[in-house]
Amino acid sequence: MIIVSACLCGVNCKYSGGNNLNNDILKLFKEGKAILVCPEQLGGLETPREPHEILQGTGESVLSGTGKVISKKGKNSTDNFVKGAYETLKIAQSCNAKVAILKAKSPSCGCGIIYDGTFSGNKKEGNGVTAELLIKNGIKVYTEENFKDKNF
Ligand code: SF4
Repeated sequence: MIIVSACLCGVNCKYSGGNNLNNDILKLFKEGKAILVCPEQLGGLETPREPHEILQGTGESVLSGTGKVISKKGKNSTDNFVKGAYETLKIAQSCNAKVAILKAKSPSCGCGIIYDGTFSGNKKEGNGVTAELLIKNGIKVYTEENFKDKNF
């Protein structure tokens, strides 16, 4: 089973109330190979919601307690992001998932590159909070940008 960011399959869970539909990933779901999750909703955030970014650090620093996830207006939503990551891990472990395809650059789901915390569109190296927790627990994380040549 593959853990997949729900917004990539057309679920309107994105902060704006929209989605990031990718038809190749939706096909995996229709074939029964994917479980859909939205860590930000699982962490208790509403939809639509303000956009968030990780301030000072990455998913790793958020999980270790030194980093913060803030909304564009400055609300500290760190606890929601951590909760969403652990709920996602619980789902992944329950279905014995070894692989995830998550939305690139998101403060929850991004893997390798994320937005830099300035809400300017600039990026930095690092993982989102959920991607980091899944990787730490032995789950291989891809994004919609690099999953295609893999054989699921
Ligand atoms: S938290 Fe992940 S699944 Fe939810 S909307 Fe953001 S990128 Fe998509």
